[in-house]
Amino acid sequence: LFSGRVEFQLSAPALKFLPEPTVPEIAFCGRSNVGKSSLLNALTGRRAIARTSVTPGRTQELNFFEVGEPTLFRLVDMPGYGFAKAPPAVVEKWRRLVRDFLRGRVVLKRTLLLVDARHGVKPVDAEMMKMLDEAAVGYRVVLTKADKLKASELDAVIDRTRAEARKHIAAHPEVLVTSSEVKLGIEALRAAVLEDAAV
Ligand code: GDP
Repeated sequence: LFSGRVEFQLSAPALKFLPEPTVPEIAFCGRSNVGKSSLLNALTGRRAIARTSVTPGRTQELNFFEVGEPTLFRLVDMPGYGFAKAPPAVVEKWRRLVRDFLRGRVVLKRTLLLVDARHGVKPVDAEMMKMLDEAAVGYRVVLTKADKLKASELDAVIDRTRAEARKHIAAHPEVLVTSSEVKLGIEALRAAVLEDAAV
């Protein structure tokens, strides 16, 4: 499926711009710079389906990508969070958009929460997990940039991340480990997305 049609559909800066809820959706969220764009590109085998490294604070939109011909499901690139210099008004706008989307989107099947393997789950990630728990949206925790760690360090962060995930009601108990750089875990991620979208 990912080797077929994958196309940017639209960018929604507010809920009134969302596409019609006609197909299942799988959303991706994480701190700014976590490697979300790179992972979406690796997942879809495209070089630049998602823009990499846009100026933090300017990406306050939900970006939709259609997969399949005709469209079988959508990938949703959620705005990154946790950048230090964001004014409170920007953070509040982000929170409202994300929370309302998570609570109201009937076709949202699962969210993938990306966590930088070098940092593990930070307080802002735990907050995001809490938002997902409260919205009753199931999610998988995905470690990114695994190539940056030694095997022993990676094992330790996987253990810690799994323990954190198991504290959260809506989190899948297993964590996925990926690297866009060396294409680690990409096939497993594709399988998880297809399973979650039930296509
Ligand atoms: P986003 O802000 O979450 O969309 O993050 P990007 O995809 O733009 O990546 C942020 C930075 O991390 C860029 O400099 C990427 O080259 C780098 N990066 C992303 N994925 C990986 C990875 O798997 N391994 C390594 N070593 N670097 C990565």
